[in-house]
Amino acid sequence: MNANRWRNGALVLMFAGFFTMYGGVYKLQWMPFLLVLGSLGVLAGILIYFRFGPVNPRLRTMDCPRCGERIRLAGERDACPHCRLALYRTAAGTYEPHVPPDAPQGSPREG
Ligand SMILES: [Zn+2]
Repeated sequence: MNANRWRNGALVLMFAGFFTMYGGVYKLQWMPFLLVLGSLGVLAGILIYFRFGPVNPRLRTMDCPRCGERIRLAGERDACPHCRLALYRTAAGTYEPHVPPDAPQGSPREG
């Protein structure tokens, strides 16, 4: 899965967790259950963020070949957060775009 999508999912998880916990204010008898469920969601989101997000210090930093922004990449496939250019990890551990940056955007190969 695209690491960029993992990051978005983590953000959604964290917000969903906070809202779940907040829901306990209205249903006081559900409060303990909602608190546990919400904190689990927040925790899962934080863990995903540490694995794929900008806080992971082991991530490789590079300049995006298309837009030139400094980006950090994780996993087999990732995408530039600025211009959404899909990047693939090579055997050497560097990242390269699947299609040349100037080529028109076709459908990227799956797998
Ligand atoms: Zn870019």
